[in-house]
Amino acid sequence: MIRRKRAMAFGAAAILAGALAATAPVTTTAAAAPGPVAHSTVCDGDGTSGKRVQPLYVHSTDQPDRHDELVDQFRGFADQIDDDFVEAAQRLGGGVRHVRFTTDGDCHITLDDVAIDPAAMDTVDTITDAIKAQGYDHQDRKYLVWYDKDGCGLAFGNGGDDRPGADNPYNAGPHYATIGTGCWSWQASGHELLHTLGAVQSSAPNATSNGHCWDDEDIMCYDDGGIPDPPGGLVKACEGAPENQIDCNGDDYFNTNPPEDNYLATHWNVANSDYLIRQ
Ligand SMILES: [Zn+2]
Repeated sequence: MIRRKRAMAFGAAAILAGALAATAPVTTTAAAAPGPVAHSTVCDGDGTSGKRVQPLYVHSTDQPDRHDELVDQFRGFADQIDDDFVEAAQRLGGGVRHVRFTTDGDCHITLDDVAIDPAAMDTVDTITDAIKAQGYDHQDRKYLVWYDKDGCGLAFGNGGDDRPGADNPYNAGPHYATIGTGCWSWQASGHELLHTLGAVQSSAPNATSNGHCWDDEDIMCYDDGGIPDPPGGLVKACEGAPENQIDCNGDDYFNTNPPEDNYLATHWNVANSDYLIRQ
């Protein structure tokens, strides 16, 4: 399912929204180890200042608060999303990228526990309005929102464009990647987060008309009903690659060092996002 959505709450232009197909096989990158869980996300600076991805757990005031039982699961998602960026940077141009999450003193991602009015759980729009009203509306944030109600993934904010450079609106916030219980997986979470970071622009060489891509394997590629003809369907351009790798061939939305003739040398490139730690 794909929904295109207007950003009514932001007074700005249409934004990109996409629901991730819920059928993607789960790729497990590590077995659960006994004892304390070691997390691989990286902390940077004081953990709060500047541009960051801030994870939130959102539930209704009239339902059980499952924050404490879920926090390790969501930290695991964050680890796997981060691993995906590390792998992509290594594969596509070199160097290192990590997601700059909000972190605590132990270098774990923070997960604010946000209780909202039951009526506000109605739709993703009302959920987003409710958390904004609680102060989660900072211009330096991309909010990664796991809400405790059935639903899948939807990303929205005030959009951006395909211009390169740090002043692209995708290099600011607030933008919201929202994921309901039906899509609580690292893949769906990473997919929606990438939308808020500016993937995939309609001008990209392998873009669909609905904000995704058609050159699989790729975490942003699927048949969303907007694949142009040709090719008329998904193409396994990166056959055999992990299903949820970031940017098959590094030519649509992420490349740390695009050659001159690469689309990303002259258009918005998520690898240049200030929401990523560069090493
Ligand atoms: Zn999508």
